[in-house]
Amino acid sequence: MTPESAVPEVLRALDDHDEFIILGHEDPDADCLGSQLAAGSWLERKGKRVHLCSAGPWSRPEIAEWESRFSRRLPKIDPDRSGLIIIMDCSSPERTGFPGDSWPDLPVLVIDHHAAGSDYGDIRFVDPSSPSTTLLVQQLMETAGDPPNPEEAEILFLGFCTDTGYFRHVEPGQSAPLEAVARLVGAGASPAETFRLLAGGRSLGSRKLLGRVLDRADVYFDGRLVLSWETWKDWRELGSERDSDMLYQLLTSIAGVEVAVVIREQNDGNCVVGLRSITDLDVADIARFFGGGGHRKAAGCTVSGDLNDVIEHLMQIFADRLD
Ligand code: AMP
Ligand code: MN
Ligand code: MN
Repeated sequence: MTPESAVPEVLRALDDHDEFIILGHEDPDADCLGSQLAAGSWLERKGKRVHLCSAGPWSRPEIAEWESRFSRRLPKIDPDRSGLIIIMDCSSPERTGFPGDSWPDLPVLVIDHHAAGSDYGDIRFVDPSSPSTTLLVQQLMETAGDPPNPEEAEILFLGFCTDTGYFRHVEPGQSAPLEAVARLVGAGASPAETFRLLAGGRSLGSRKLLGRVLDRADVYFDGRLVLSWETWKDWRELGSERDSDMLYQLLTSIAGVEVAVVIREQNDGNCVVGLRSITDLDVADIARFFGGGGHRKAAGCTVSGDLNDVIEHLMQIFADRLD
């Protein structure tokens, strides 16, 4: 079964229900937020009732302006109404950040582009070949004959740009996604404005944090892997604003580097690990080993233990692939 074959069933489900809870993954990025906002706006245009929910935390400045549109709590749906939960850009129910027993007892539609994860949900529109989840939402809207309005186009374009590193990860042969985003620009999305939103507006503290992390970076396995970290103390001193892309861009620009690893120490005995690959080395595979996930070239996981333990454990796992 191809992902496209799910489209008619998804469109029927959207028509047949009248109230929607739209979730994404925790620590939202612009792909999940853009998918939620555009789908929510589209459904409201169709006269439906929509609840946008996110567990947060909202650490990315490029999406901060939309935080107030999202609730941190799941609503109760009147049993007389026909409700549907839609989960966007999220490869497992746990990653929504809402415990399963807090979900209303409703059918679940999953719209996602992650390659691996749990096979959850009643209806699944999951296409790992899609560069972003926003493109899948756009595909649904266009197939239904309701192309995005200017605001929807803008936020869909932002999601695509986030997940493709502003077009840097678009592969040869992916002309269809480029044609799709050209239609978003035709509908009112601004590439110039979107780039300013993604790359600008950062705090001085976040730039100093970049400096600290770069200063700590070291290479391993004959220069094929670069690793660095942020401590909880850094965050206390410089603020918790998260850099989405610049750091990985700088680290993977070192000659010979194939993989970048950035570890973020938390204050709860865990470390959040971000992984980026610029070759065929599959970092989602590494992330899955630690219970996380993502894509072949961008993945993440949470590992329990202090910084030194986590570094050591990661190195053991990478040694099998890079030594
Ligand atoms: P990040 O490093 O947080 O920008 O994440 C890169 C990619 O990996 C994104 O597609 C995330 O959705 C995915 N990802 C990050 N952390 C996890 C996790 N703990 N579980 C599953 N996927 C993750
Ligand atoms: Mn995402
Ligand atoms: Mn995504």
